[in-house]
Amino acid sequence: MERFLQAATEQLCQWWSTSAQRSPLPLLSVLPEVAPPPEGQSLQALLADLQLVMDGAFNPLHPGSMAHLDPPPLAASVAAELVAAGLNNNLLAEELSPSLTRLERGLCAWLAAALGLGDQSGGVAASGGSLSNLMALVVARHRAGLAGEAGALVFCSADAHVSLGKALMVMGLPAEALRPVPVDGSGALAIPQLEEALDQAQRQGRPVLAVVATAGTTVRGAVDPIGAMAALCRSRGIWLHVDGAIGAVFALSDAHRGRVPDLGLADSITVNPQKLLGIPKSSSLLLLRQPSLLAACFATGLPYMEPSWADAHGGECGLQGTRPAEVLKLWLGLRQLGLSGIEALLSGAIARRRRLQQLLEPLPLDLCSGPLHLLAFCPQGSEAVAAEAWSLETRQRLLDQQLMLSRPLYGGRHHLKAVLGNPHTGEEQLQTLRRVVEASLP
Ligand SMILES: *Cc1c(COP(=O)(O)O)cnc(C)c1O
Repeated sequence: MERFLQAATEQLCQWWSTSAQRSPLPLLSVLPEVAPPPEGQSLQALLADLQLVMDGAFNPLHPGSMAHLDPPPLAASVAAELVAAGLNNNLLAEELSPSLTRLERGLCAWLAAALGLGDQSGGVAASGGSLSNLMALVVARHRAGLAGEAGALVFCSADAHVSLGKALMVMGLPAEALRPVPVDGSGALAIPQLEEALDQAQRQGRPVLAVVATAGTTVRGAVDPIGAMAALCRSRGIWLHVDGAIGAVFALSDAHRGRVPDLGLADSITVNPQKLLGIPKSSSLLLLRQPSLLAACFATGLPYMEPSWADAHGGECGLQGTRPAEVLKLWLGLRQLGLSGIEALLSGAIARRRRLQQLLEPLPLDLCSGPLHLLAFCPQGSEAVAAEAWSLETRQRLLDQQLMLSRPLYGGRHHLKAVLGNPHTGEEQLQTLRRVVEASLP
């Protein structure tokens, strides 16, 4: 075991330390044999095969990696992930993860309180934000007593994440149950339209199972007006879920909390530490003002387990049964950073977004951003067909310079999008980016 881990760790460190010499996206790579051979393989053979897969991997450590919400991982979190695998505990039940279950409960309670959900708050870890959002809506529906109600509606902004549509599909609701509300010029949900839509639903006798605010939309990082949405929800007795997969972590810092105002007025929040803080995937939490609602909704009893020492086993507080100890890498990573490290990470991301915005502003571009660290742009006034051709060609020219941006379709036009969450991205990359983009414009 020791020899194996040492050799694999050395190989990984070598991959890390040479990451700046490889581009963000590898060229074509060779995949090793997939099926297990008749006889077990030696350590050397296994590591050689592993290397082939590593050679073909996306490279989040390269300073030009700014396409998506996938930053370089924290060292402490990588070590914790290794240890978690070695412990092989199971968050399904307390007797299979005595310390880790308590660690998860404790950390969820700390995070929920830090985001403003109050001293009774808490939550559960989930393998990804899509699952956190799904669980939030299932809890909201249960809470509203709308479980067999086929006509129930969910309101969110037109820029909300695709996982909400998927959640409704799993919940057995038709696609029309998801009601997108238009956004204003800043990409945030328009309150008058939401109010009108809620009134209309009431007139039509359609029950509302939840309103979803997005704190950090996926293309431009816009933040919905959570305070005003909470007021509308409260007066109507509707659950407010905040999809803070991208933006909620900003509330962990005094300096940046104002970017996601009134987050604590939510009934539930999705937060994805995997997206900016460098916690390896997957790391997502569903946090609730009233965490006991999780077991109230999901508990089935676990007849083959000793009773829970607290209120309910981990496997009764969500959709997943057997679950890895994802909390370990989150806990150790956050402690490696400390509050000052978290703030520095957030500040760096904001500073890079501002700098890029400053560099691009003089160019004839339509810029879309928000208070966070995302920036999307396309040629000013371009038509859909021209914007698509421009984005394809410019993305390739940027890749030629080892800069990787993404190419979202937003408002009917393809944009290029930069996510400035990679701490290795510096002035040099931002200057090159500006040069390439400038040269791409007529
Ligand atoms: C990424 C994202 C999600 C989904 O999270 P996954 O971990 O990819 O499942 C949900 N909402 C928003 C706003 C996101 O950006």
